[in-house]
Amino acid sequence: MKKRLAIRGDLLDFTAEPGWGETESAAVRFRPDHWLLIEDGRIAAVQAQAPGADWPRADHAGRLVLPGFVDTHVHSPQLDVIGSYGSELLDWLNTYTFPAERRYADAAVAQQGAALFLDALLAHGTTAAVVFPTVHKVSADALFAAAAERGMRLIAGKVLMDRHAPDGLRDDVVQAEADCRELIARWHGRERLAYAVTVRFAPTSTPAQLAMAGRLCAEDATLYMQTHVAENRDEVRWVRELFPEARSYLDVYARAGLLHGRSVLAHGIWLDDTDRAVLRAAGAQIAHSPSSNLFLGSGLFGWREAEAAGAAVTLASDVGGGTSLSMLRTMADAYKVQAMAHQRLTAWKALHAATRGAARALALEHEIGSLEAGRMADLCVWDWAAGPVAERRMEVARGLHEKVFAWLTLGDERCLVAAYVNGVQRHRR
Ligand SMILES: [Zn+2]
Repeated sequence: MKKRLAIRGDLLDFTAEPGWGETESAAVRFRPDHWLLIEDGRIAAVQAQAPGADWPRADHAGRLVLPGFVDTHVHSPQLDVIGSYGSELLDWLNTYTFPAERRYADAAVAQQGAALFLDALLAHGTTAAVVFPTVHKVSADALFAAAAERGMRLIAGKVLMDRHAPDGLRDDVVQAEADCRELIARWHGRERLAYAVTVRFAPTSTPAQLAMAGRLCAEDATLYMQTHVAENRDEVRWVRELFPEARSYLDVYARAGLLHGRSVLAHGIWLDDTDRAVLRAAGAQIAHSPSSNLFLGSGLFGWREAEAAGAAVTLASDVGGGTSLSMLRTMADAYKVQAMAHQRLTAWKALHAATRGAARALALEHEIGSLEAGRMADLCVWDWAAGPVAERRMEVARGLHEKVFAWLTLGDERCLVAAYVNGVQRHRR
């Protein structure tokens, strides 16, 4: 007997990448009042007519159904420092983040933290993520195990940092390589998990450690790589001092063999045209983290420049530098960042980047990011409004783009009704 579920609602997803500034786009697929049929965790069909009486059903008529969001850059141990006052990146790391991450050397702390973090992602409508735990092997083990329990698509890896970090947060090249190899053997390709070679950022790895990370990537093209790049001007200056031979910050990673089609680089605010061309040639993506960039005063990311150069852009919360796990809030902040540069980010462009666009950039388009037969049933059911202001705004909205744009600008996790992973309800309001 196949495990079945039929979900009714207003289905919204994308069949292609919407163009910049297009509020009307052929890439948008809106199927109001449709049924999404799930069999054994996968989407079996989408249809207008109700399924037979033998289908168990979740009737969400009048509600929005979207693919689960993909957060391409977030730190699991940093829920403890979200919303910390008063500093920029380098000071923020030393004052808040490093002390919080040190606690994850303890397996019990790491396990509790991983469960809290993944349940929080689901409660915000995010069903897949690219995640930094800490330098400690146990933190990666705990995170992978908790994701496996929930059936989630998760990409993560033990953080590499062998210098410029306090005691209790440094590894060394030999031990780090052994830990990575052990974690890759244990988790990479198991269930819906994948390993990412995880360089915190260039300043906290010696050239020898970066070279080791590059070797791991060269040995197995199915591994991901995640790191930070060109987030903050003081950081960029520091990287120039530490790596005088490199043409740019990004070039540090290029020289170490860390740029490839599965590389996810957070921020990328202070890049130049040559850097963007290098990203394009490598097929690497920028995980744009607008709420973090605003909160830490890092700068305004040039989405259009990156896209014009052919570099993929996805969206990320970057909690705890970011101030919410909500991808709605992240999209609303992305709109404001672009508005500062007199650019207009459409709801379609933003939603695409958080669903199908992220799936494509992560080479997971066959699995997640859209509502069509064959994909895993990772999806969320949303109310169109939470509270009288949003309710009123929805009443008077004209046209689909206006409605969806107001929804993502005014909405947050209070709009989330249910989150499904592999067709299993993992969160219910
Ligand atoms: Zn980050």
